[in-house]
Amino acid sequence: MNGKSFFIDLTKCTACRGCQIACKQWHKLPAEKTRNVGSHQNPQDVSFTTYKLVRFTETVVDGKLNWLFFPEQCRHCVEPPCMAVAEHEGSILQDPLTGAVLFTDLTAKESIDNIRGACPYDIPRQDASGKIMAKCDMCIDRVHNGMLPACVQACPTGTMNFGDREDMLKLAEASLAKAKKKHPKAVLVDAESVRTIYLSAVDPGLYHKFMMAEARPMRLFTRKEALASLIRPLSRMTAG
Ligand code: SF4
Ligand code: SF4
Ligand code: SF4
Repeated sequence: MNGKSFFIDLTKCTACRGCQIACKQWHKLPAEKTRNVGSHQNPQDVSFTTYKLVRFTETVVDGKLNWLFFPEQCRHCVEPPCMAVAEHEGSILQDPLTGAVLFTDLTAKESIDNIRGACPYDIPRQDASGKIMAKCDMCIDRVHNGMLPACVQACPTGTMNFGDREDMLKLAEASLAKAKKKHPKAVLVDAESVRTIYLSAVDPGLYHKFMMAEARPMRLFTRKEALASLIRPLSRMTAG
């Protein structure tokens, strides 16, 4: 069992933001007060109450002005660096059925600098009091009840897909081959190491500086962290 994955085909995204709203609605997250900063992106960043954010970037690609739309969320890393550096057992968990990476209230005991600093995609955020952390949870309650994640269910264009990892990898490869006919530079972003796989038609760095893992130098694990990341999967196996 290789768990679940998202496949997000950015060549199809129209930036309708249905996914962003569906995420808020399902998790009963409040709206954020925002202001006009000259972009349709709203709010300006992911946060403790915005797990999914459609980023807008206006840029020149191959001599033409382009709007790039990037529905950003946690990548649910196959071997999550955030979990590897967590210092308190149970603060960050990985669901054995889906592979979803889940933050619990025990993240209140963790250092945000440590957890956020370990994330290659700059995803974890804290609440206003600077205590617990939050991010996309793969809509684990929906998925365990046979439903699609709310953002996938809401997407009207086929950009967002979700299912068994093998199926999503196959869909991603087939979509890449199709996209390459029109966009020769199209790539799958970090497909082997994450469960949120993006198909990017252009250099991924144009969408957002943290879209690819290599954009942020990986923090080196301490010996204690490296040992902990080895021991936890073993203890889960023996518990199962
Ligand atoms: Fe953890 Fe960041 Fe990977 Fe999400 S994207 S699982 S927060 S390391
Ligand atoms: Fe939000 Fe659920 Fe989509 Fe994650 S999977 S971005 S929590 S709607
Ligand atoms: Fe893009 Fe689909 Fe989200 Fe609309 S719902 S912004 S098309 S990913």
